[in-house]
Amino acid sequence: MADAGGGELVCPSCATPHPADERFCTRCGMPLTYAGRGDIDVPVSAAHARARKIKPQYSEGDLVRVAGARNQAEAELIQGLLLEEGVPSMLRRSRGFDVPDMLAAGPRDVMVPASGAAAAREVLLQAELIEDEPAARQAVDSPGRLLVGLLAVVALVGVIAWIGTEILG
Ligand SMILES: [Zn+2]
Repeated sequence: MADAGGGELVCPSCATPHPADERFCTRCGMPLTYAGRGDIDVPVSAAHARARKIKPQYSEGDLVRVAGARNQAEAELIQGLLLEEGVPSMLRRSRGFDVPDMLAAGPRDVMVPASGAAAAREVLLQAELIEDEPAARQAVDSPGRLLVGLLAVVALVGVIAWIGTEILG
């Protein structure tokens, strides 16, 4: 009849075994935990859990920007990914966006210590949250894109001017 083995509780304080329906140790009053599962039964604060994941070698140096997020939620997602790899991070409002601090809207810069920046970029690249070598790519692409854009504008202005003269003339 008895549920032998599975679900047995032990007192974390005095190790007295109890049936699975007991909630507190009958001997010393401690809340009971499942045998062999003490690792998940210990309540840990979120801050403590975060601190435990951070690798000390990624916590040194000045803060550098590794990513931009469109809003607080996206920024926190990025922070979570970084933390999984042991990289601590903090958020900063992107310059030039004057939104009151209590609003979740507005872009954020994700900052990490300099020693963790390479690891952070690796994580974000794999998650496809940043582009590979954005600086280099911009340098190559921007002049071409800018030129195409300018030509399009020039053409449009030309068409409008032509239409104008056709109608007026
Ligand atoms: Zn006990």
